[in-house]
Amino acid sequence: MLTRRCWAEVDGRALRHNFKILRGLIPSATQLMAVVKANAYGHGLVPTAKELAVIGADWFGVANVAEGVSLREAGIRQPILLLSATLPEEMPAAVEHGLTLTLSSLAEAKKLDRIARLTRKRAEVHFKIDTGMGRLGAWHAEAREELARMQRLPGFIVKGLYTHFASADDDPKLTQAQWKLISPFFAEHPGLLHHAANSSAVTRRYGFSAGLVRAGLALYGIAPQPTDQKLGFQPVLTWKTRVSLLHEVGAGRTVSYGATYRLRSAQRHAVVAMGYGDGYFRLHSKGGHLLVRGVRCPIRGRVTMDQIIIDVTSVPDCRVGDEVIALGRQEDEEITARELAKEAQTIPWEILTNVGSRVSRTYRYFQS
Ligand SMILES: *Cc1c(COP(=O)(O)O)cnc(C)c1O
Repeated sequence: MLTRRCWAEVDGRALRHNFKILRGLIPSATQLMAVVKANAYGHGLVPTAKELAVIGADWFGVANVAEGVSLREAGIRQPILLLSATLPEEMPAAVEHGLTLTLSSLAEAKKLDRIARLTRKRAEVHFKIDTGMGRLGAWHAEAREELARMQRLPGFIVKGLYTHFASADDDPKLTQAQWKLISPFFAEHPGLLHHAANSSAVTRRYGFSAGLVRAGLALYGIAPQPTDQKLGFQPVLTWKTRVSLLHEVGAGRTVSYGATYRLRSAQRHAVVAMGYGDGYFRLHSKGGHLLVRGVRCPIRGRVTMDQIIIDVTSVPDCRVGDEVIALGRQEDEEITARELAKEAQTIPWEILTNVGSRVSRTYRYFQS
């Protein structure tokens, strides 16, 4: 087998640990949906979901029918909710594979009704109510009427009712207001499955008195707010590469495209085998670090498509082939998704989902 140049290690123990923390934060009767959309936040859809099924996830949340079908083909039997709107062309496959659709409007409902009747299978849906997110869902002021008309259609059965918080991580007032808007709907439909909370809402303890919570980020070991780090989530993914070349570079020379970095004194540089083609943001060119032998080594010059140059002057024993950490822990040093997000002017969610398709995934301590 070829030596790995750039890969991600996914740790089943950390996944189980985070699942247990989330379980402990919600009432025992509340179900836990593992959100595995976008390739399980970059961790690899099928292996991650199979492990979560063993660990005890009650539900799976995916973005679209293709992801849901992959899970069914991998043998996942748990209910699967499509978190995005489903295109009419995707509806037959959704019904065929027993995926639960999210409906926001009577127009979608009528299409599904027609399609489900043709496939002779009764589809299951969750009705979504917009309480302030402004993405999916019927606007709460019109939702009662919409739901009542939907429930008269015979092609599907409404099994759940939900909403989504716009700012559960940093706006308790808005979150409470959204909870106040959805609560009467839950009360009026005691027979349906109710849900609202994402990771932030669980860690901040809003809205989890519903029947189900939908957790993504925290499951992968990243606290939605830095203050929640004390809950003890452990990052599941470690992103690694290797030193492919070492050289001494003299004072006055420049490094990488644009010649933006000029050496004031001689340095020892390592070229490592990853770049923006692997999903490592080019924005890390300024201020980014990689770990070598437990030492934080600064990036020199611009991140390129396949290679990054780092300064290893302070790591005299660095050798070609050494493991390099882009995200994760090495000895006493750690680069967190939150640190990378800050540097790349984004959020931890995008750091994880951006880990590219060229990056092979290896699974450690998995039971499935
Ligand atoms: C992605 C998503 C979640 C999970 O959010 P996290 O913040 O990662 O926990 C929950 N609900 C919906 C509707 C989503 O789209």
